[in-house]
Amino acid sequence: MKDILLIWDIDGTLIDSKGCGRRAMDRAFYKLFGIENGFKDVKMAGRLDALIVKDAMDRNNVADGDLILFFNMYCQMLEDEIVRGRKPEILPGIKEILERREICYRLYHVLGTGNIEQGARLKLSPHNINRYFPVGGFGDEEKERWQIIQHAIEKAQEYTKINFKKENIYVIGDTPLDIQCGKILGIKSIAVATGSHNMEELTRYQPDYLFPNFGDTDRFFEIFR
Ligand SMILES: [Mg+2]
Repeated sequence: MKDILLIWDIDGTLIDSKGCGRRAMDRAFYKLFGIENGFKDVKMAGRLDALIVKDAMDRNNVADGDLILFFNMYCQMLEDEIVRGRKPEILPGIKEILERREICYRLYHVLGTGNIEQGARLKLSPHNINRYFPVGGFGDEEKERWQIIQHAIEKAQEYTKINFKKENIYVIGDTPLDIQCGKILGIKSIAVATGSHNMEELTRYQPDYLFPNFGDTDRFFEIFR
């Protein structure tokens, strides 16, 4: 039986965060530095949290910003946004995909995201889907995105004691950056147009598979046959 590893991005792929991350970042920035809209014009999709925050600090001339302090405040604000504000919504097909028990192969799910781990777990908590992702690669430190995915693969192998073959590893995401990770690491990529990029834009980056959304779960599972 084949062992298949799926590495999932979060925002725009598993969930539509409804902007809770951006609002929490803006609020944390204001609390710590007294600056409003600190993340205005800062691109977030597909990027690492550590780099997003550094970028905002540079643009606003915050010279002595501490990432650890910032992330502590961010997680407090994020929790508040999720409890009281607009909650992240789970995207079509995701629940079914995560719950499906396959007979012809075994599926293992891990996270591969630019979110810091605590933020990632908070965003997934309203839908109780953290339990499907025992480990992952996260954006706590300044790294390249492909290194996060590499880290997710290593963590998965450690956790499952399975040495996944490259042809059975898939990175899943909503941005060209996710697709690029697949090419850099020599693994497969599955792109989905439920986030910041449409089908036409994603096609240009030549993912191995492309979906408008994962609502048609039978088509999704066809990939692994
Ligand atoms: Mg994303």
